[in-house]
Parts: sequence; structure tokens; C-alpha cells
Amino acid sequence: MPNHKHFLVANWKMAMTTHQALDFMKMLSVQEITDSRTQVIIAPSFVTLPALHQWITQHSTPIALCAQNSAAMQSGAYTGEVSAVMLKETGCDYVIIGHSERRILFGEREPDLSTKVELAFQAGLTPIFCFGESRDIYESGKTNDFLRKQLAPYSAKLPFILAYEPIWSIGTGFIPTYDDLARTVGFIRSLFPDTALLYGGSVNGSNIDSLLQHTTMNGFLVGGASLKPDVFYSLYQAMNQR
Ligand code: PEP
Repeated sequence: MPNHKHFLVANWKMAMTTHQALDFMKMLSVQEITDSRTQVIIAPSFVTLPALHQWITQHSTPIALCAQNSAAMQSGAYTGEVSAVMLKETGCDYVIIGHSERRILFGEREPDLSTKVELAFQAGLTPIFCFGESRDIYESGKTNDFLRKQLAPYSAKLPFILAYEPIWSIGTGFIPTYDDLARTVGFIRSLFPDTALLYGGSVNGSNIDSLLQHTTMNGFLVGGASLKPDVFYSLYQAMNQR
């Protein structure tokens, strides 16, 4: 396994207002989040980024900020879009690209996703590129073929972070068997041997220890279980005890 730092990414989706996000930060044991082996990354909504950036700066905590999406265009007349440069200026270091909700609900696909990745790099952001198969593909045993196609536009030399997120596992409480996960991870690592690889999909306080024990991921992208400070903190603790 490549010798990467480990990452714990909270994807808050559209679940928290800025007010709620600041309450979360007050309740999180931030003084315990020291810059050790696990980089904590929070992805709030666009509008919450400035307030969270201010909070993080004031409290000198090593938590990093991430956007949940960015535009496939550099700048210009694109009402409602937010560019990678704007995100960098707002204090982001990371941006999630290609989340399955963006792909399924908002029709995002290649070549726009590759353009987003490229623009993120140009702006000085690290893309966290999400990919993963549907339940049908998983059950028909075609996961590797599907993932290979999803990852085909990307060079193994790109310094991005990959987040393998089986669509059928997101928000469902189901995770792949450890054998399946190990096989899929092995396959992804054969394509991207030097890239940090995260797993996302129903990670929670009950399964994180087993996931850490049975797999060789560089961390996790967490949705539902990242919304409660005590639960999220317990994930952080589990990662630091590994
Ligand atoms: C996600 O949305 O990327 C995710 C992994 O969500 P959850 O942890 O709720 O499955």
C-alpha cells in the first residue's frame, strides 16, 4: 500500500445550514483533532465555506475544507456555477468531483468530469474523484470492467485522491463483503498503484473497525455518519487507533 497520509472526509451534502455547521464545530472535540496521521476534511455546502474557514482559522485546527462540486468552466456567464478558483480563494484545499449524486441526479459525465479535475488542479485544489458501480453491475460481476471505464480518462500519475463509492452502498446501510472489497481495491490499486484510495458507502461507528481491519484503504468518505459530532469524532478515533 502506498505510504499516504490517511483521510477522513465528511460529505455534509445539503444537510446542514451554516448555523448548524458552526454548532457542529463547537461540539466536535476539535482540540483532540491534532495533525497526526489522519487528515480530517469537511465538505459543507458552498455558502457555509467562508464561515467554516473563518472558524478553522480562528481555532488553528488542522481540519481542511472541501467543496462538494465545482464548475466545468473556468469563469464567465454561467449562472449558478462556482469555479475552482473561487473555491480556492474561499479556503478550500479539496473538491469532490463525480459524486454519484451529481452523476445520477444532475447528469454529470465525461468529459466534464475530466475538465473539472483539470480545473481543480489549475486552481491548486486536490480533487477527490468519486466513482463506483450500481447494484446491477455489482451483482452481475462486472464491477471491474465498469470501474476501468470510469477511470479510463485519468492518468495514474495524477496527484488526486480516489474515492471508491459503490452506488448501492451510499446511504443504504449495506457495504460490500470484505472479500469483494479487497478484490475491488486490489484491482483499483493495480491501475493506480500510487494514488490514495478512500472507501465511501455507509461507513459508521459499527463497521469502521472491521473496515480498517479487513481492508487497506487510505481512509473514508462519510455521508450520514459525519453529521453528528460525536459519531464523526468516534470515526476519527478509530482511524487513529489502527
Ligand atoms: C456519500 O454520500 O458519499 C456517502 C458515502 O454517504 P453515506 O456515508 O451516508 O453512505
